[in-house]
Amino acid sequence: MKKISLLLVLMFIGFSTKAQKIKKIEPPFWWTEMNYNQLELLIYGDDIASYSPSIENKNITIVGVKKTENSHYLFLDLDISKAQVGTFRINFSKKGKRNNFSINYELKQRSNKSKLRKGFDSSDVVYLIMPDRFSNGDVTNDSTTETIEKANRKFKGGRHGGDIQGIINQLDYIKQLGATAIWSTPLLEDNQSVYSYHGYAITNPYKIDPRYGTNELYKNLAEKAHQKGLKLIMDYVTNHWGSENWLIKDLPTYSWIHQFPKFQRSNYRMTTQFDSHASKIDAKLCMDGWFDTTMPDLNQSNPLVLTYLIQNAIWWIEYANLDGFRVDTYSYANKEGISKWTKAIMDEYPNFNIVGEVWMHNQAAISYWQKDSKIGAIESYNSYLPSVMDFTLHDALTAMFNEDNATWNDGMIKAYNNFANDYLYPNSNNILVFTDNHDTQRINEIFNGDINKYKLAVTLIATVRGIPQLYYGSEIGMRGNKNNGDGDIRRDFPGGWKNDANNAFTSSGRTEKQQAYFNFTSKLLNWRKNTEVIHTGKTTHYIPENNVYVYFRYNEKKSVMIIINNNSKEQTIQLNRFAENLKAYTSGIDILTNTKLDLSKADLIIKGKTSLVIELKK
Ligand code: CA
Repeated sequence: MKKISLLLVLMFIGFSTKAQKIKKIEPPFWWTEMNYNQLELLIYGDDIASYSPSIENKNITIVGVKKTENSHYLFLDLDISKAQVGTFRINFSKKGKRNNFSINYELKQRSNKSKLRKGFDSSDVVYLIMPDRFSNGDVTNDSTTETIEKANRKFKGGRHGGDIQGIINQLDYIKQLGATAIWSTPLLEDNQSVYSYHGYAITNPYKIDPRYGTNELYKNLAEKAHQKGLKLIMDYVTNHWGSENWLIKDLPTYSWIHQFPKFQRSNYRMTTQFDSHASKIDAKLCMDGWFDTTMPDLNQSNPLVLTYLIQNAIWWIEYANLDGFRVDTYSYANKEGISKWTKAIMDEYPNFNIVGEVWMHNQAAISYWQKDSKIGAIESYNSYLPSVMDFTLHDALTAMFNEDNATWNDGMIKAYNNFANDYLYPNSNNILVFTDNHDTQRINEIFNGDINKYKLAVTLIATVRGIPQLYYGSEIGMRGNKNNGDGDIRRDFPGGWKNDANNAFTSSGRTEKQQAYFNFTSKLLNWRKNTEVIHTGKTTHYIPENNVYVYFRYNEKKSVMIIINNNSKEQTIQLNRFAENLKAYTSGIDILTNTKLDLSKADLIIKGKTSLVIELKK
């Protein structure tokens, strides 16, 4: 046995002296029958630019060879539109035959399903997880030899050990909650020396961080989630990478990133992307400035970078069978580049969904970034981005549920005014509506632990147009104060670690208070799951009176009346005001309490800080 293995080792060494010329080839493989069939291979190796590549395959044509000032890189443009499944050889030659060598590249069979994949939509509820803080399913990967930062659960900004196996272990919990899609913050390798747990400083775009698992395990997560009727959304970062990224440490070309050349922070003023009065320097610093010292800003106006990002994104969708992207810092990218990136993905998967983080505070500014925007059209801009996030609703709901006394501008009028501006959005039903996320204050912190306020907020996002999104832990009343640092809004989910005293993943392990939060959320979301009128129905809303907001979601078959009483006092609602929606409906069932309500009477009484979600009956 020993002799054989020694022989194999010697054979491998013999092979690798030639093949070691190539340290990396990306994408690592591709597929046939893709719409995207003009492939650009990034080939990385010592002095590789001094070689001439050739291919002996009549179905594959080299259409271009690009070289930069860095001789470690060669970009090979291939037409694979007629290519067949299997491997083909790429020959590299230069003067003196002894140097010649070949490598194999694989084109895999594409699954039929992948062309028709349907992304997440308004029938879904998205559950946002920070994987390092959710559930530790494999303690052996908490620290690894190949990654710099080691586990330290005592440090709020450190790595705590949560991983992909942990998410797989909790799929039933997520399903029971009534969520139907999982958005995990980035799982790709982030091998920065500190604060690597957040994952937004990616160091290897084709590799899952070993502290989370492997590429295969990520694919397995998608499979297992799909088996349970859950979709998987990848958090994609187009704007920047980590400073430890291998491509940053040996830049393919000077203009791969924006260099000033000293560190230059972004001014984060995204209005400069469309403000006709904006100075050029302000616009440049917003777009080209770095998000942070350890996050070099990628130059999406460089075609090599853009192609790399497009291919990497499509590769992950196809490889892991994904149902959507959430794109980080969408509106900080070069806007022409990000538009091409988005369009390329949507051309490949017309029914896919991508939600971009456009963290702005008025609807005109946010709607600028949605596909076919009327605001964007003023300057002939189209991002092709299907979905954006309702940050203005978030602004409203984080304020109004603490406003007991309705004034002209305070209380539920904030929600009403938000939806009054929906005409600005090309598709107001493809917008993410959310209570909180990994960058915002925890909703239960804002509500100071008042479950009644939480219930109102969740009722609102679960019944208005759009795609509701919850942030892990809020559904069990988890708190955390952003003023104490980001680590505090990203606390470990109780029960995610073996010796946790409190296990909120199981009903027997939850405290009474956690159970109350969970039961309410689960009941509402599971009802929503099967209530199509909430997914696609029209909306009519009524100007709030005394801090009570009433709206209807309806279609030809069904109508649901939602009453949100944000007043701390009991209110009496005069029903005749809603005659245009109540029509022939004379009764209804409040799905939150399973109570039958008589709507033929003149009025309806609703307790303070309570909501009713009434399925109307004739
Ligand atoms: Ca782990």
